[in-house]
Amino acid sequence: HAKARYRGQPVIFSREHEVEIRKLSTIEHTLRRIDLDAELSLHFQPIVNVGTSRLVGFEALARWHNPELGNVAPGVFISVAERTELIGTITQVLLRKALSAVSSWPDGLFLSFNLSMRDLISQGTILQIVAIIESSGIDPRRIIIEVTETALMQDYERVQESLRILRSMGLKVALDDFGSGQSSLSYVHQLSLDKIKIDRGFVRNIAMQENARNIVKTVIDLCRNLKFDCVVEGVETAEQVEIISRLGCSTMQGYFFARPMPQGEVEAFIADFGLSGDRRLVAAAG
Ligand code: C2E
Ligand code: MG
Ligand code: MG
Ligand code: MG
Repeated sequence: HAKARYRGQPVIFSREHEVEIRKLSTIEHTLRRIDLDAELSLHFQPIVNVGTSRLVGFEALARWHNPELGNVAPGVFISVAERTELIGTITQVLLRKALSAVSSWPDGLFLSFNLSMRDLISQGTILQIVAIIESSGIDPRRIIIEVTETALMQDYERVQESLRILRSMGLKVALDDFGSGQSSLSYVHQLSLDKIKIDRGFVRNIAMQENARNIVKTVIDLCRNLKFDCVVEGVETAEQVEIISRLGCSTMQGYFFARPMPQGEVEAFIADFGLSGDRRLVAAAG
């Protein structure tokens, strides 16, 4: 075992670690030389209100296909990019693509867009984001920025300032993956938030474990008390839909409704949802 550093972080080398580090470093170098605009794309996953049976919006999720590396998961390449200044450029490329997709959606639908911690502490990136949104002509009130707890714990003052700028334009802010990290109930109410997304980790066991049900119920009640909207993510079965509605949250996202899809399938999904959405929800209710 040898000791080394990767991006300032100490690493103990074993054979697997070495392979892993080399893989991450290949990803980083590839991201640096490719045409990001050509290789990155977005998939869109529907977010629905099961109370009204209506589609309310889509979350944009990054996809990367590279001729040599194949498909690289966003969980991998976004976290590599986040350790460098690359993330700022990637965020801008993806935001332009997302807004161009939104321009062909019906007015009532919102876009949920993930920002990383590094975006929120970079004043340059925030100003670019503002400029991209302004020049897109999309109503900023249709855009929700998703941020994670880890992002919020970083450079609190700067993150708050970035969120303040974005909210003053009319954007909304959602706290993503709530409950998955070191939880932060103590400062959730101090943050400028509009919405909380309950992590899918809690949903997985909701039908089997009373414990998981109680946690979800507690967070739903918290949202109601603090006047946040609430979204439950990772909903995969009709039984979960039924339980979550009963616990008091009607906005949901997950494979039960649809997997993330390319923009080419979004229009058909929007057109079809009234029908197929209802059918699924009837199935869930029965
Ligand atoms: P996230 O923002 O929490 O996105 C939700 C993830 O859960 C997505 O994974 C989605 O495909 C997956 N998912 C949705 N419904 C279900 C379900 O019912 N079951 C299961 N098992 N999974 C479900 P994905 O697309 O692989 O993205 C992973 C993460 O990568 C995202 O988590 C987000 O943190 C990050 N990410 C993705 N796109 C972007 C982006 O454009 N910018 C930034 N900064 N991060 C992004
Ligand atoms: Mg998200
Ligand atoms: Mg999430
Ligand atoms: Mg996540």
